[in-house]
Amino acid sequence: MTTDYLDSLNEPQREGVVNTEGPCMLIAGAGSGKTRVLTFRIAQLMNKGVDAFNIMSLTFTNKAAREMRERIEKVVGHDARNLWMGTFHSVFARILRAEAHHLGYPNNFTIYDTDDSKTLIKNIVKEMGLDDTAYKASTVYNRISAAKNSLISWEDYLQNAELMGDDAANLRPEIGKIYKAYALRTFRAGSMDFDDLLFNTDKLFKEHLEVLNKYQQRIHYVLVDEFQDTNLCQYYIIRKLAAVRQNICVVGDDAQSIYAFRGADITNILNFERDYPDLKVIKLEQNYRSTQNIVEAANSVIKKNRAQLPKNVWTANEQGPLIELIKAVSDKEEGKLIAGSIFQERMQHQLKFSDFAILYRTNSQSRAIEEALRSMNIKYKMVGGLSFYQRKEVKDLLAYMRYVLNQQDEASFRRIINLPKRGIGDSTVDKIVVAANDHSMTIWDVLQNAGHFVGGRSAAPIEDFVAMIKRFTLEVERKDAFDAAFEIAKGSGLLRELYEDKTVEGLSRHENVQELLNAIKGFVEDPERQEKSLGSFLQEISLATGQDEDKDKDPDKVTLMTIHMAKGLEFRNVYIVGLEEDLFPSQMMLSSRAELEEERRLFYVAITRAEKRLFLSYALTRYRFGRLKNCEPSRFLDDVDQSYIKVSSKFGGLESAPPTSQYAKTLVNGIKKTIASTPVSKPPSGYKPPADFAPSDTSALKEGMKVEHPKFGFGTVLQMDMSGADRKARINFGSAGEKTLLLSFAKLRIV
Ligand code: ATP
Ligand code: MG
Repeated sequence: MTTDYLDSLNEPQREGVVNTEGPCMLIAGAGSGKTRVLTFRIAQLMNKGVDAFNIMSLTFTNKAAREMRERIEKVVGHDARNLWMGTFHSVFARILRAEAHHLGYPNNFTIYDTDDSKTLIKNIVKEMGLDDTAYKASTVYNRISAAKNSLISWEDYLQNAELMGDDAANLRPEIGKIYKAYALRTFRAGSMDFDDLLFNTDKLFKEHLEVLNKYQQRIHYVLVDEFQDTNLCQYYIIRKLAAVRQNICVVGDDAQSIYAFRGADITNILNFERDYPDLKVIKLEQNYRSTQNIVEAANSVIKKNRAQLPKNVWTANEQGPLIELIKAVSDKEEGKLIAGSIFQERMQHQLKFSDFAILYRTNSQSRAIEEALRSMNIKYKMVGGLSFYQRKEVKDLLAYMRYVLNQQDEASFRRIINLPKRGIGDSTVDKIVVAANDHSMTIWDVLQNAGHFVGGRSAAPIEDFVAMIKRFTLEVERKDAFDAAFEIAKGSGLLRELYEDKTVEGLSRHENVQELLNAIKGFVEDPERQEKSLGSFLQEISLATGQDEDKDKDPDKVTLMTIHMAKGLEFRNVYIVGLEEDLFPSQMMLSSRAELEEERRLFYVAITRAEKRLFLSYALTRYRFGRLKNCEPSRFLDDVDQSYIKVSSKFGGLESAPPTSQYAKTLVNGIKKTIASTPVSKPPSGYKPPADFAPSDTSALKEGMKVEHPKFGFGTVLQMDMSGADRKARINFGSAGEKTLLLSFAKLRIV
């Protein structure tokens, strides 16, 4: 087996790779090779003969885990497949699948997504007769989530008023009771939400030492990437797992901690030093990713934060071009300028679309940018956002599948009981739920005795429903995931209902359901996969983390994503857009210095994703929440040492800028004046089109060909864009400049 990889490491990196035993912490700057060290450390372990089954590596996304596994596979071969690798949630869900019965859950428990959880909370708030403006589902959900991530059970929450913080004295004294009802209901529904996957793993290890012991024997090495973003619960779990052998290696960067708002606790880094006195600490300071300008600009930003561990990140890379600042009049124009810049950069440096990323603070910013990219035929993919699996029709069919696997699942039950319509109304559903609660029975028990609990007329369709679900259960036992899913889609009537809806939306919904079935087919036919049951498919998609849904066959696309999603990634060219006050830093993160510093770290993460070129942009007006707002440039722009920035000379599309704000109006006028006083590129002097100019057929036009245009004169075709009806050519007309022409309109003659 090769150890060539050791030659591709600097001295402290090599130390991190070869000293495989004992506790180790690597706290190091962005792009300094932390993930690389972690990857090769695992390869090193396997080279030394450690069994892949004994290594657990926790990453930020499943995609990151897959990439790591592939790299390790190159060194050690196929065995890498057996590593325990993935996100905390996916790895612990796997443990819980085997052990949940110790906690009284079925091993085929359902995983609730955020929507399911919020719907259930909404129902509980309603049933308790509470005011749903004070007890908004998302607020309550966040409180419960924060409690679980800090290992506070509902019992603790109710007993210790001080844990309730503001809520006790404030508007929401009932959150503890809602937490209790929610916890009991999800338990009775045999369901866990995302936070339960962590909370219950901790509980399992705390209450069942024999189970903990089993995993301590099995997991000899624990490795964690992005350690700065772990929460207390995650930390406790890995500490327990590594308690016997103490082989635990964590890597992270305090300057990139961006999940405190979700309970991530940067003090885990300090706790780690306290908990492992024999700790080997390694510092990496050389950045291999970015140009000097980008590294220095990032340093100048993070220096503004008070809370940080001292670090001196530097790079031996080239100095590189300055960071370019793009000012736009409107969000629409921002999109256009960025699309234009991508087009130009790509041509000039022969880049691929996949060399570019556009990063924003919130998903809602993507729309204007997407429009601009589409209009210039720039291929892009959006990572995160409303995912395929969150579309209604897709969720409906998934709910059927989940329910067939777990009839206790209340959220799925509510979703499908009257879908397609089978005459079981809301009041009947409420009766069923109340009966289940009153008698401490499961909903499924109530359904099976429908005649007893609901009036005679409603009982018949419920009996049919029960019979159907039982039939599906048999299918799932006998068939693979695809055949079972197809039976469910057909047998439930869902496919037919969508098929009969011939509206445009109906067709697209039908297609989406077909696409889901295709995905399941792909899952079943994947030769790498051993488990082909419907249950394992559902588990996999319920734990997909935004970045994972990369089923696209064409990888050459511009990536659009939030900065949170971009953590750990790198791109040649990066655009950070919407650098405006109240947007970035976010309006919601301005109430304390700590929050502002977290936003600044987010900005630092964004900057450090870029390898060669970084662009920052802002708009002076922007549509937000359906209204046009005037914006001010972000304070973060002032944090960047100005000697690394130049203002872009590109302006475009000013005609379409909405002339609403006074400021914007002045600016538009100013720029218009500048444009008016700048000589526009003219046709070469003396050029006159021949009198008999007759355009020729351009269907055979190719890059490199010479053409003639009645106004611009002779030119060379630089690039053809053949997609769709709008065939376009970019042509260099020498002194008349470069033009992109629509071939259906342009009068051109091939010469
Ligand atoms: P982040 O903080 O963003 O997660 P990181 O510290 O994990 O960054 P990596 O992603 O591991 O950094 O490395 C950044 C880039 O530098 C990668 O492209 C990696 O391959 C490269 N790199 C790291 N170390 C070296 C090295 N010694 N020689 C050459 N390239 C290196
Ligand atoms: Mg990394």
